[in-house]
Amino acid sequence: MKVLILSAEVEPFAKTGGLADVAAALPRALRDLGHQAAVIMPAYRRALEAGPPIRDLGVVVRAPGGPRGGEGRILASTLPHCDVPVYLIDRPPYFDRRGLYGEDGLDYPDNCERFVFFQRAALEAARILDLRPDVVHCNDWQTGLVPVYLDESYRRLPGSTFRAVGTLMTIHNLAYQGSFWHLDLPLTGLDWSLFTLDKLEAYGRLNFLKAGLVYADLISTVSPTYAREIQTPEGGRGLDGLLRGRRDALRGIVNGIDLTAWNPAIDPHLAARYTPRTWPAGKAANKAELQRLAGLPERPEVALLAAIGRLDPQKGWDLIIEAAPGLLGRDVQLVVLGTGEPRIERALQALSARHPDRLRAFLEFSGPMAHRIEAGADLFLMPSLYEPCGLNQLYSLAYGTVPIVRATGGLVDTVVDATPEALLDGSATGISFLPATADALLGAVDRALALKADPATWSRLVGAGMRADWTWHRSAEAYVALYDEARRRRS
Ligand code: ADP
Repeated sequence: MKVLILSAEVEPFAKTGGLADVAAALPRALRDLGHQAAVIMPAYRRALEAGPPIRDLGVVVRAPGGPRGGEGRILASTLPHCDVPVYLIDRPPYFDRRGLYGEDGLDYPDNCERFVFFQRAALEAARILDLRPDVVHCNDWQTGLVPVYLDESYRRLPGSTFRAVGTLMTIHNLAYQGSFWHLDLPLTGLDWSLFTLDKLEAYGRLNFLKAGLVYADLISTVSPTYAREIQTPEGGRGLDGLLRGRRDALRGIVNGIDLTAWNPAIDPHLAARYTPRTWPAGKAANKAELQRLAGLPERPEVALLAAIGRLDPQKGWDLIIEAAPGLLGRDVQLVVLGTGEPRIERALQALSARHPDRLRAFLEFSGPMAHRIEAGADLFLMPSLYEPCGLNQLYSLAYGTVPIVRATGGLVDTVVDATPEALLDGSATGISFLPATADALLGAVDRALALKADPATWSRLVGAGMRADWTWHRSAEAYVALYDEARRRRS
């Protein structure tokens, strides 16, 4: 099967969140299953500077639209460690900027125009390069118009190689919909007759993600629990009615771990590498190293907690900040890594100034640091208010760092709470709690500390997490089944 994956982020070229990890790992896993995959993304400045060699194919794509539309160039690279092609749409006025979607916490005002250009140019690139995909896999709002362009235009062109192409629209986070002023519609080149509530309009605005959800053959999101949550008024962000209406076409597939990138047995960033058999010594060495890096007292026995992620209210930082005085009153250390909302940065900075021997906040984006923290910590905090899938809890499991999670979305599907029964039958892998309160978080930490005080129990918990299979292989197989179904719906 030939799969064309369209994504606004692909690791290692450009990343703000989990989408980038998925867009890199899934095509690799598809390749390992014997399928052909290709990826198209924008040629951001960051992507061109990321490291992997990129060449100019000397091919021009025309994508009219906004004032700065016109011509783009197709650049080409490959995903590291494999030969999956990555095509990058180069249009400097749109993409030669410091950020992906904005700078200093503000979205670029021309994001509609930028991503219309990307989508139209991506389809043009697929046509000119004669990629002939069986399925086009769209991801998040930045690609939501692609199923529309296919249905309203490309399939209908004489001799079109897109006539029977299947489409899958994946929601990585329903909070981001690409909702724009209705008068941006002319930028899309689409007819005003499509600006209706059953097509491109949502609440008086042009909504890219909604358009994709209406037009795609199949819809998926990144965990079964999140697939259910987004069909409810509480979780549906205004699109629950549409999603309920399409529930027969909606699936949940949990993301996997890319074992070439996240594997403590081979991770080049670690002070010591380790396996499910050698973790006690391995983690001890990494913990000492992390304590040194963080400027915290080197104490092997203290419980070292960690949190990594975008500093966005979604991730439950307010719960951590509210719980901090109580938390840091216990004999624990906390290392935090994240960038994002200045309000949250300031709160974390203030806490670490007040508790310098207990809390260290790294307010930066650093892949190597994320690896060192996962390896060095004992416990990982992920009290998300909502969580489509979540990757850090999976990395934590793989690195023997017991996750403490709020029971929402993908966290429900990937972490088995250490109830007495689950501890007994060996299925427990972490701690989960439900109320979104600082008290409930503290209660969960206390449960974890009690378990950690019993070495045999702790060892079983860590071991079960490390041995859990969250490789991409099985997620990729689930995607292949969806691709097949999308294709069948068209043939
Ligand atoms: P989301 O996609 O909502 O941001 P995920 O847990 O799915 O959350 O994925 C987040 C990814 O981004 C993980 O790979 C995580 O390690 C990484 N990440 C987030 N913040 C940072 C940071 N400050 N430094 C390094 N990696 C980060």
